Amino acid sequence: MIFNPKIECMEREEMRALQSERLKKVVKACYEKVPFYKKKMDSRGITPDDIKTIDDIVKLPFTTKTDLRDEYPFGLQAVSQDKVVRIHASSGTTGKPVVDTYTKNDINMWAEGVARVMAAGGVNAGDVVQVSYGYGLFTGGLGAHDGAAMLGAVQLPTSAGNTEKQIMLMQDFGSTVLCCTPSYALRLAEAIHQSDKVSIDKMKLRVGFFGAEPWTEGMRRELEEKLRIKAIDIYGLTEMCGPGVGGECECQNGTHLWEDMFYPEIINPDTLEPCAPGEFGELVFTSLCKEAMPILRYRTRDLTRLIYDKCECGRTAVRMDRILGRSDDMMIIRGVNVFPSQIETVLTEFPAFTPYYFITVDRINNEDTFDLDVELRPEYFSADPKRQMPFIKPLFDRIVSLVGIKPNIHIKPPFGIERSMGKAKHALDKRNFHN
Ligand code: ADP
Ligand code: ZN
Repeated sequence: MIFNPKIECMEREEMRALQSERLKKVVKACYEKVPFYKKKMDSRGITPDDIKTIDDIVKLPFTTKTDLRDEYPFGLQAVSQDKVVRIHASSGTTGKPVVDTYTKNDINMWAEGVARVMAAGGVNAGDVVQVSYGYGLFTGGLGAHDGAAMLGAVQLPTSAGNTEKQIMLMQDFGSTVLCCTPSYALRLAEAIHQSDKVSIDKMKLRVGFFGAEPWTEGMRRELEEKLRIKAIDIYGLTEMCGPGVGGECECQNGTHLWEDMFYPEIINPDTLEPCAPGEFGELVFTSLCKEAMPILRYRTRDLTRLIYDKCECGRTAVRMDRILGRSDDMMIIRGVNVFPSQIETVLTEFPAFTPYYFITVDRINNEDTFDLDVELRPEYFSADPKRQMPFIKPLFDRIVSLVGIKPNIHIKPPFGIERSMGKAKHALDKRNFHN
């Protein structure tokens, strides 16, 4: 179902007119209400009057994560505190967290973003939506919750964790929809199949909305098979509101971005110039209707490309390709660029391996080392290195051919790699510790 056909299927020219109108408004608010933006625009010699259409967006300054941290907590807020009804913050593994604040309208807009994705996946009144994203400052839990509410579905706020109980409730309450990170979905699937108390045969799950971290087609196959569902990608980031900045439609050939709310651009991260249509680069967003904390040209560090061709589903909203990873996740090992998701892609090609892995990079005797922990499924596992060899060899060859460097592969015993309830951590770069 298309939740908001007028917007989601709007002709390009009409969408551009809407974006132009909204951009003018948001730039004006930023300039007048947020000293940070006024200063940045003044230093570029521009005022809101220079912004006449959406094409003028390239005149605006970029905003970075460092800017957000410098303005912590409320420096970028464009409304007075009595208009704010919610505050979220992202994990911020290093330094201060990134804060987002919301007016009532912002919460509604955000819920609509999620509702559009869920509606595309067929969610309706009567569905039981199990929200296994963490509830709290993290946007995942409440974001999915409010989206489900907008569709009139049952919200089941289990949050992340308590895995045994989660799967019991999933069965007993007849959850039809699951929302969580793909890593946690994998953990839930594993727990269901290990359990003698619940059975996938008794579950009513039909569809899952997975996001908040990069995942691969191989992972999708695994989740669809193990949970007997359709697995749908949902994308978002705290800086724009949270999950629901976009999501896949029925065709699953890219993530539609709700560009009436969040205007996307792709730039070359080195030159900061716009990329040609279809070219890979860094995704940049301008929030077009956020009131509490509008953001101009935010550099997400997510690497992807945009597809403007019309989608078979009827939606005209631009699509984005799967996210390769964040530029900060990329590791340069022996001069080669490596994204953790490439390892997931390779692992899921081999039925004997689980999709769990952990990469450790170090520098020993002036040379980069690349260690890869992987897990064989219990039925294939043996502690005897001779029996492991037939599995290691093809995996090694495939990684060398796809990624271009030779890993030291270590087979861990079943369940030997840590499971994650939220966003999984896939790599440790020990080279950073030597400096
Ligand atoms: P943090 O920066 O602490 O992880 P967020 O929860 O705001 O905080 O994370 C947003 C980021 O998560 C995005 O910029 C992107 O890198 C990643 N992300 C979110 N959804 C997806 C998705 N569906 N596919 C790939 N990456 C995603
Ligand atoms: Zn579509």
